Amino acid sequence: MPENDDAYRTHPCADLRAEDAGKAVRLAGWVHSRRDHGGVYFFDLRDRSGMVQVVARPQAQAAFKAAAGLGSEFVVSVSGKVSRRPAGSENPDLPTGAVEVEAESISVLNPAKPPPFPVDDEVSAGEETRLRYRFVDLRRPKMLRNLTVRSRASAAARRFLDGKGFLDVETPCLTKSTPEGARDFLVPVRLHPGTFYALPQSPQIFKQILMVSGIERYYQFARAFRDEDLRADRQFEHTQIDLEMSFVREGDIHSLVEGMLQEVFKATIGADLPAPFPSLDYAEVMARWGSDKPDIRYGLEFKDLSALFAPSAFRVFADAVKAGGVVRALHARGNKTLSRTDLDKLGELVKSLGGKGLAWLRWKGPELTVESPLAKFLSEAELSEMKRLFDPRPDEVVMFAAGPSAVASAHLGAVRKELIGKLGLQPDRRWAFMWVKHFPLLEKDPDTGGWTFTHNPFTAPLEEEMAKLDTDPGNVRSHQYDLVLYGVELASGSIRNHRADVQEKILGLMGHDAEARRDKFGLLLNALEHGAPPHGGLAIGFDRLCALLCGEDSIREVIAFPKTAKGTDPLSEAPGPVSDRQLKELGIRLRDS
Ligand code: ASP
Repeated sequence: MPENDDAYRTHPCADLRAEDAGKAVRLAGWVHSRRDHGGVYFFDLRDRSGMVQVVARPQAQAAFKAAAGLGSEFVVSVSGKVSRRPAGSENPDLPTGAVEVEAESISVLNPAKPPPFPVDDEVSAGEETRLRYRFVDLRRPKMLRNLTVRSRASAAARRFLDGKGFLDVETPCLTKSTPEGARDFLVPVRLHPGTFYALPQSPQIFKQILMVSGIERYYQFARAFRDEDLRADRQFEHTQIDLEMSFVREGDIHSLVEGMLQEVFKATIGADLPAPFPSLDYAEVMARWGSDKPDIRYGLEFKDLSALFAPSAFRVFADAVKAGGVVRALHARGNKTLSRTDLDKLGELVKSLGGKGLAWLRWKGPELTVESPLAKFLSEAELSEMKRLFDPRPDEVVMFAAGPSAVASAHLGAVRKELIGKLGLQPDRRWAFMWVKHFPLLEKDPDTGGWTFTHNPFTAPLEEEMAKLDTDPGNVRSHQYDLVLYGVELASGSIRNHRADVQEKILGLMGHDAEARRDKFGLLLNALEHGAPPHGGLAIGFDRLCALLCGEDSIREVIAFPKTAKGTDPLSEAPGPVSDRQLKELGIRLRDS
């Protein structure tokens, strides 16, 4: 018994084992399920650690009486003795399955309404109900495990970064809009009516300023807010491991992040991550997989057939190469044969992206006879060269895309994504991390037609590309990198412009005149002019990382209190209206429409 007589418990429920038989214990937790076995009550008592079976027999009068009145999820304290379960009634699935607790007394600390759904891993309740009753949902073992993994991941990352000399510095949540490309959440300010704070889309400018301040190594588990239209599995607020370092090159940041992820994976799921991760140029990644975040576990790499078809009599291919474009091919090798309907659907997909359709060729039957809408345009030599290159098995298909490199990649990349499922492919490895680096600095903004940043406006161009800023800005490669896993961008960062003049020039290319530059970016530009060291960093999507560690598809499963897919919180019923008084204080009048 505890020395302290009014202690709620002596042990966590899940700690009891056969060796504890005979011990007097006091436990506290939730009644998981109660069974009446012909005059004897059994129930599983659950706390955060797990469960143990409690038995209340008529001989222990008080306990027996109390057990009769228990309902699911009542909070109770149980005093009793640990005993071995009778032979044959052990539960090998439960760590405490060899024992039970013979209750001597049971006190109800708090009764409970019947739970809206059972506290089990399998849950049939919909998301809305689960989130409305999140306090019950989080009792489910899987959710507790997810929150545990999340906490351990955070502890491991902090330990690692602390060990590497990083300082954890908080940056403000009430701040000025940071141009990261998304819409801001705005906060009206009572003391200055008509003015607004913005919630940060990232601590980007502040972390760069910290580098100017000489912090050299900064990190923060930062909450970032982006008012984006909700696509699958997005949240308005997400957590990122945000870091920034001074006097570093890309490789220094990458190896630091690899070391941190190794530590995090080991501490949470015991996995050994192989490092260094492959690091490929954006241009190469696009040419091989047609996406800047390809899932590389399924093969299906493109082959470049531009040289083969440059002299072709088939004008569509030859002209594409002549115009400076490419002909790329995707060999659809897998466990399933593609039907004509599959090919038609893929053709529709390419059309939906602005293409003319999908050119394909099938080697039919054991003789490998050629079946293709293009067959009559291709020469014997071209066909036999393709046969040599692809070494096809019967009924396999090769698909083609011809045109400017980016267009061909986009079309075949979309087809490749579909093929992974259609071909019944299984991933060939785990943890296939890859750095994608040297993204283009600028791209055309489809709305304005002008140049805009590909990731954020603070990325530095590669030194050797600097001259092209004046002559060919669209082809300037940058120090922007992403960390990609399973088709998801897990982290993103860059080496920054530490020179104000270069930063200004790039902002100018993006269409910000001198006044706009000072107005929107003055804070950063001013700091850069006061002794900014070369610096760079990145942000890791911590929710996404936790989902990967937990094997969850949705980040909502690793966030304690997420919003629904519609961006609402059924638990607190947010967002909601505010009182007229609050609006008045803020100087806000709502429009009727
Ligand atoms: N600020 C960037 C983001 O939040 C990441 C970075 O470049 O460090 O996406």
